[in-house]
Amino acid sequence: MELIDGNAIAAALIAELKATVAAMPGRAPCLALVRVGEDPASVSYVRKKEKTAAEIGVTSRIILPPITITQVELETLIDELNADLSVDGILVQSPLPKHLDELAIFRRVAPSKDVDGFHTLNLGKVAQEDPTGFVACTPAGIMELLARSGVDLSGQHVVVLGRSLIVGKPVALLALQKKAGANATVTICHSGTRDLPSITRQADVLIAAIGRAEFVTADMVKPGAVVIDVGINRVTDPTKKTGYRLTGDVHFPSVSPLCSRITPVPGGVGPMTVAMLMHNTIKARRQNAAAI
Ligand code: NDP
Repeated sequence: MELIDGNAIAAALIAELKATVAAMPGRAPCLALVRVGEDPASVSYVRKKEKTAAEIGVTSRIILPPITITQVELETLIDELNADLSVDGILVQSPLPKHLDELAIFRRVAPSKDVDGFHTLNLGKVAQEDPTGFVACTPAGIMELLARSGVDLSGQHVVVLGRSLIVGKPVALLALQKKAGANATVTICHSGTRDLPSITRQADVLIAAIGRAEFVTADMVKPGAVVIDVGINRVTDPTKKTGYRLTGDVHFPSVSPLCSRITPVPGGVGPMTVAMLMHNTIKARRQNAAAI
């Protein structure tokens, strides 16, 4: 079994992006990060994004509206960022507080600044294989991780566990694309799937994104498969100072001896997500500059 080292692969990508930004003419790319409320995971994700942006030379603008912000006020804020020529990319940290309509906010972001890739138009561009679109960062990161690990999906059976708009659906569409590195046969499973293990056992490449700690066990995996664990779950652990530990959607101790390659949690898909956000912000800067 070989470990797919997301930290190392993301570090290589970040170094490339830093060189790209240094060579770009004009001002640095600028990313607006909007975080509503103090959800601890969101606080740490935004901090990580800010830190990585600084490392690459991307300017970040952190906007922290109060948790009492209304839908209309947040939409107005997004409209202002859409119109601001000094902002290239806009990210609204998910999840938003329950009183806000998250999908409506994602759709409010101008497609040309939608570096999270959640706008209807950008998801449509993935389906149409239009390279001008923005691909959601986690699915894009998974594809990059596979490509840089030498995993060619062509002709392989990829089974995606989960059908969310953020991970499952876009990664399935990417694996399905008729191009080098992709061109897979894809099956998507979800909570309504009958006899899940019989399907996951057919996977040459299994991508688990369901948000259930250690759900995928050895009996669900074909020996020799490549396993990509997208899950980030907090599990109570009194032995840790924080009181919890992070675990994936895959039961690593029993699955890892079986497979050919596997991503760890943490240190697998997670670091790639942030790197791809920076990749998208640089792309937005280029495309927006060309459009002016
Ligand atoms: P969602 O909760 O939006 O989607 C979960 C999906 O899994 C749904 O399609 C759901 O089915 C399916 N599912 C849930 N339970 C089962 C089950 N028992 N059997 C089969 N299918 C099931 O999650 P996300 O896609 O947003 O995230 C998934 C995981 O990935 C989470 O742990 C999240 O923290 C992590 N994540 C990690 C990122 C990273 O950077 N590494 C980024 C984004 C997410 P149905 O549609 O029927 O409800």
